[in-house]
Amino acid sequence: MVTYETVAEVREASRLARRAGKRVGVVPTMGFLHEGHLALVRRARELADWVVVTVFINPTQFGPTEDLARYPRDLPRDLELCREAGADAVFAPGVEELYPPGCQTAVEVGALAEPLCGARRPGHFRGVATVVAKLFAIVEPDVAVFGEKDYQQLQVVRRMAEDLCFGVAVVGYPTVRDADGLALSSRNAYLAPADRDQALSLSRALAEAEALVARGEDRPGAIEGLARERLTRAGVRVDYAEVRHPETLERVERIRPRVVLALAGFVGATRLIDNRVLTAPAA
Ligand code: AMP
Repeated sequence: MVTYETVAEVREASRLARRAGKRVGVVPTMGFLHEGHLALVRRARELADWVVVTVFINPTQFGPTEDLARYPRDLPRDLELCREAGADAVFAPGVEELYPPGCQTAVEVGALAEPLCGARRPGHFRGVATVVAKLFAIVEPDVAVFGEKDYQQLQVVRRMAEDLCFGVAVVGYPTVRDADGLALSSRNAYLAPADRDQALSLSRALAEAEALVARGEDRPGAIEGLARERLTRAGVRVDYAEVRHPETLERVERIRPRVVLALAGFVGATRLIDNRVLTAPAA
């Protein structure tokens, strides 16, 4: 496995792979890798012949009061995990390599980027769409794998790739969880052992919501109310608990046939998100 730090080097490596007839896959990450990230790398391995993992804590997707400075990092460990997961290359550029002085272009996705995390983290998806567009322009991948854990991000990236004609297949991968249900996240490193029960209220609320829908509940408000109540009761400060259309992310009148329940909440100072697609029982 080779590590690249410059745009020129990784672009050349990707071109060489493509010229050799290989399908190129990319897995963008912010590092501090866990099993969720590694599952994406293994999926990319199945879908492509040459896989590059990008490790870059993208400053433009963090708000001024967010955790950019203290975001966890451990590049040597990430490199070892990528090698074990079968990556061919890691692209780990410095900030100035992707945002050199004078750069002034950004990518803005429309309505999909407005609700949920878009509303709570102004500019977040502009930063995400911009950095992912840059990575796609550099690597020119055939396939890119993203986690469903960041459900809205996956929809935003899909839209962006389609609208800007990147010709890349954006593939989603189901959320990888700990045995107790907690969605794996680099930010779980912030949680003290005592915070874990609070953190677990997100996945538990999603499971309860699913059971309620299975019993015939068809009102989004009832589902949202249940989720809010469970999070609040556990001591989590709710950022949002919303039922949305699974593709457009618009509000819906009914659960039937399918919705996404998206949750975000603060466990102490740590903001966690989770989601689940809920399918109404057959009529
Ligand atoms: P991040 O490093 O948090 O920016 O995440 C990089 C990629 O890994 C994104 O596509 C995330 O959706 C994905 N990811 C993060 N956590 C998980 C998880 N628990 N299961 C599956 N994918 C994940």
